[in-house]
Amino acid sequence: MIRYALICDAGHAFESWFRDSESFDRQARRGQVNCPTCHSARVSKQIMAPAVATRKEEAGQAETGQPMVMPAAPDAEIRQMLRALRAQIEANAEHVGPRFAEEARKIHYGETEERAIYGTTSVKEAAALHEEGIEVLPIPVLPDERN
Ligand SMILES: [Zn+2]
Repeated sequence: MIRYALICDAGHAFESWFRDSESFDRQARRGQVNCPTCHSARVSKQIMAPAVATRKEEAGQAETGQPMVMPAAPDAEIRQMLRALRAQIEANAEHVGPRFAEEARKIHYGETEERAIYGTTSVKEAAALHEEGIEVLPIPVLPDERN
């Protein structure tokens, strides 16, 4: 079983258990994963971006320690801010997809080149990373950014 941090198209964050990542993908595609608050079936995994130290000054807000506040219903201004944050992460960090936890560990333990990365991971993995001293930030996915 795997627990995912999810978010609906209205910005409600919640968590749900799945047998495996394929089972989440399949159920989400069929509209069987619903937001407990508004019952929307437009649900996606929250993207995790690490606060992995990077020497690049321009690496973005993710490393400056600014608090990420996720409101229940993001208004246009907040959506704009989140979009800018996402764009900044995407421009400065390498997308590692589901290998996020693995890569974050390698960087943390100096087994690979130090760089900013982003990708997806489970709540359990994010908690494990946190226990190992690797900070990760959940970045909400905006509904109009999904493909
Ligand atoms: Zn919702």
